[in-house]
Amino acid sequence: MQIAHRMNLLGTETAFEVLAEVNKLRASGKDVISFAIGEPDFDTPSNIIKAGIEALKGGYTHYSPSAGLLPFRESIAGYISRSRGIEVNPEEVVVAPGAKPIIFYSILACINEGDEVIYPNPGFPAYESVINFVGAKAIPLPLLEEKDFRFDVDMLKEKITDCTRMIIINSPQNPTGGVLTEKELKTISDLAIENNIWVFSDEIYCNMVYDGKFRSIASLPGMKERTILLDGFSKTYAMTGWRLGFGVMNTELAEHFARLATNSVSCTATFTQMAGIEALEGSQEESQEMIKEFKVRRDIIVEALNNIDGITCKNPGGAFYVFPNVTEACRKLKLKDAKELQRYLLYEAGVAVLARTCFGKKNEEEKEEYIRLSYAASRENIREGLRRIKEAVEKLV
Ligand code: PLP
Repeated sequence: MQIAHRMNLLGTETAFEVLAEVNKLRASGKDVISFAIGEPDFDTPSNIIKAGIEALKGGYTHYSPSAGLLPFRESIAGYISRSRGIEVNPEEVVVAPGAKPIIFYSILACINEGDEVIYPNPGFPAYESVINFVGAKAIPLPLLEEKDFRFDVDMLKEKITDCTRMIIINSPQNPTGGVLTEKELKTISDLAIENNIWVFSDEIYCNMVYDGKFRSIASLPGMKERTILLDGFSKTYAMTGWRLGFGVMNTELAEHFARLATNSVSCTATFTQMAGIEALEGSQEESQEMIKEFKVRRDIIVEALNNIDGITCKNPGGAFYVFPNVTEACRKLKLKDAKELQRYLLYEAGVAVLARTCFGKKNEEEKEEYIRLSYAASRENIREGLRRIKEAVEKLV
């Protein structure tokens, strides 16, 4: 039977393949410590779980409007106004089952075939995948280790052409943990305004900035109208399996997003939305504790990585990822690249990590090798996992 041509254009998230491999190894009795998964290892805070159960018992089991329940959108508008310092109203909010659908809706609603979209590379795989899916041109913007995994401003300027319709940014960033500076946000905003370009700002890790304060590009003058802001509950509130996210955008675009929701998912689960209100307005204690713990783990993992011959690691400013340079380790172990190191570590050391290429093809000028480790793992597992990596890498070094 026929499969549509466009399916050849859609990529995937290879991280899920590694997870399947880890599960297979574990099922066969092998002890594997995983730093592969990008989700908090904590349970959803208990007050949020309770609110979800109460909502189910209270009859929140029916359809909601496609854009989301009004009280929830009001709650989100309040949260964004407070946290970003901009005035947002509920008509500018569209709720979705997870943050990911907002990536899809944004490209589908704003980008035509042949348009160009600039996206961070390495970056979250869905961006490039969906850009290609709609027949647009994906223009990678290299993130550089020497700039703490931010981009070079002149390089961004060079990438903008008459066909550029959107710049995607993600700060704090997956996979590097990099955080854009105020100056870089200003440069992007100047370029976006000057060239009449959308900015898609993926702010899902906004509450995980460890040194300094988070700043949204939407709060810069003239930017609210042209920014699609993405945030959600998966990371801040350890709610990956609930599927709850949202976008904030101008009201005209919000209507198009709601129509895309009507045609695809109808709406997001209603009891989940009620739990979302509790997440934003109830006690923040458990979420804050989790984030504090991530900072401690970051320090442990960065120190341990820098203690391994052949590996160097920058101190990332946010999210729960580290992105060490493993060029020397690959060379000494006679491994071709980080992908081979990923396999070596999984099968020789029982440690799962992700190679740089899980986050896009290497940029032309990129000579170094990297892996991503998620430190959403217990301190004990971090210490043991890093001990295993050290042993496996240094035994031949
Ligand atoms: N954006 C980034 C940068 C992410 O890392 C993730 C999840 O890993 C998402 C979006 C998707 O979040 P959700 O699970 O809520 O769809």
